[in-house]
Amino acid sequence: MEARAQALKSYKDSLRCHSKVETQLKELRVQYKESVGLFDQSEEDLKSLQSGVGQIVGEVLRQLSEDKFIVKASNGPRYVVGCRKQINRSLLKQGTRVALDMTTLTIMRMLPREVDPLVHNMSTETPGDIKYSEIGGLAEQIRELREVIELPLINPELFQRVGITPPKGCLLYGPPGTGKTLLAKAVASQLDANFLKVVSSAIVDKYIGESARLIREMFTYAKDNEPCVVFMDEIDAIGGRRFSEGTSADREIQRTLMELLNQMDGFDSVGRVKFIMATNRPDTLDPALLRPGRLDRKIEIPLPNEQARYEILKIHSSSITKHGEIDYEQIVKLSDEFNGADLRNVCTEAGMFAIRADRDYVIEEDFLKAVRKIADNKKLETKLDYKPV
Ligand code: ATP
Repeated sequence: MEARAQALKSYKDSLRCHSKVETQLKELRVQYKESVGLFDQSEEDLKSLQSGVGQIVGEVLRQLSEDKFIVKASNGPRYVVGCRKQINRSLLKQGTRVALDMTTLTIMRMLPREVDPLVHNMSTETPGDIKYSEIGGLAEQIRELREVIELPLINPELFQRVGITPPKGCLLYGPPGTGKTLLAKAVASQLDANFLKVVSSAIVDKYIGESARLIREMFTYAKDNEPCVVFMDEIDAIGGRRFSEGTSADREIQRTLMELLNQMDGFDSVGRVKFIMATNRPDTLDPALLRPGRLDRKIEIPLPNEQARYEILKIHSSSITKHGEIDYEQIVKLSDEFNGADLRNVCTEAGMFAIRADRDYVIEEDFLKAVRKIADNKKLETKLDYKPV
């Protein structure tokens, strides 16, 4: 009897204890929920505080210890700063761009590498789908260019096996309108590579050092986006012969050229970045730019001869609706000294004559009238001063 009473008492005690623990648990759950709410609230507050206050842009110079870094703020001074816990320290290398807190200068987050919008624009410019068959009369030049640009990109082992360093790039030179830009575009569209097109005159900036910075950025971009073909049109704008006198603007252009030479030398030729430069005035270029190891190959794109003119005319007239026989040979004979662009113009003008005569097709007479008209126009133009190298 005594034992049963004892058991009952202990059972009652444990029951009481259990219900006490249960109420405690309930209270704790409520407390936990409140704390989570408070935590979320403070995180939210912290975020809005940070987004509301501006941050300083800086660049990591060196890591001092586990979480101390030397950074250079964009306005100049250098600081030793700490780093937020969430940031992966192994990614904070020299040169990484970071955002620093306004008051404590703590590294708050990493920023993407700065790329000048101009470099971005260059890269988004798509060359369009141009086939080699759309270029007339330049078969030999196409072969040479493909050898310099395509072969080292597609088959670098070939060069390693033979033990020669592949060329870094080539210069296309010749009179205007002969298809230099067209050729570079064809290489870019037929090759599975990134293509940077730069008009050299656009690089020249009015602020000292800016053009050189753009060149540096362009090369870094090319390196980061290998394989890449960099096409610099009108290279004479920055690649002119250097001279000792000159205005400060001339000196800035010379500095830009020096940066270009320096960057080209820094490139590993087995690397997968190739250059194509084009100019109408090869005689004005600085010899340093042309020496082997920089622009190894020079390819002349001459005015088309009779056979080439025939091919170009065929290409541009292929999409035109024609009636009757067209004596292309006669048109070619009349188009002495014409360049590729003029021949394209002949086709356009022939089409215009047809429209004027209320026809929706072109006849031989239109072509002949067009070629005479353009020949007359050309006679009026002043002759361009072009001398091959
Ligand atoms: P510039 O030195 O003035 O920049 P360029 O040599 O780069 O001239 P392109 O811009 O390539 O000349 O040529 C102008 C246009 O002429 C081309 O878009 C193309 O339609 C036509 N053209 C020139 N050469 C040829 C060619 N060999 N075959 C077919 N079309 C050509």
